[in-house]
Amino acid sequence: MQISAWKIRENRERVREAVAAACGACGRAPDAVRIVAVTKYVDAATAKLLVDAGEEDLGENRPQQLDEKRRILANQAIRWHLIGHLQRNKVRLAVPACSLIHSVDSLQLLQSIDSASRAASVVSAVLLEVNISGEGAKQGFSASQLPGVLEKAAPLSGLRIQGLMAMSGLDCGPAEARRQFDAVRELRDRMTAAFGPSFDLAELSMGMSGDYSEAIAAGATLVRIGSRFFEP
Ligand SMILES: *Cc1c(COP(=O)(O)O)cnc(C)c1O
Repeated sequence: MQISAWKIRENRERVREAVAAACGACGRAPDAVRIVAVTKYVDAATAKLLVDAGEEDLGENRPQQLDEKRRILANQAIRWHLIGHLQRNKVRLAVPACSLIHSVDSLQLLQSIDSASRAASVVSAVLLEVNISGEGAKQGFSASQLPGVLEKAAPLSGLRIQGLMAMSGLDCGPAEARRQFDAVRELRDRMTAAFGPSFDLAELSMGMSGDYSEAIAAGATLVRIGSRFFEP
């Protein structure tokens, strides 16, 4: 995809304004929500145009692509977010590359990230992906699995669970998306009440190009926006 630097700048202004407007509409401060610019559609040179325009948080859904872009853009100040499924055999690649792994969807994966992180003497920041839409094809823990996962995660010193990540169901309209995002926030609040200070689940990664307003109204702290940045 070829897209000019000025078009990227213009799109970026629009995304920033739209996210600020969505915050304003529900009485949240504009800096309460961090934008993760998803660069999976474009090459490293195009991703760099976004960094030049001021974006600092970039997201990729595949660890190989994340690592490749990270190497090419190594001299840029970028926080890299892994937002897609992580296979256990890619954990050692992802751990040193990621500032936040959004998509932890199994206990085995959590344990692999823990051991790889301890081996590398780092503490990995992760989110637990929850399957809130109930669709069979979607990754993520069910709401009922979450207490057991948090209990088993509590002693793992190689990682810090910072919150939850979710996607609304395919083809659901704004009202249903809002309902699902509200359910994620309520789930987080219940887990916080149940586990107390052993976890700080402040982050809610939810909302994409089509449903960020609903996610922000429901309490998202991270929105993962891709296509809007690259509109022709
Ligand atoms: C691609 C992707 C996004 C961004 O989607 P857009 O609709 O292009 O904004 C967000 N989250 C995940 C998990 C993705 O894979």
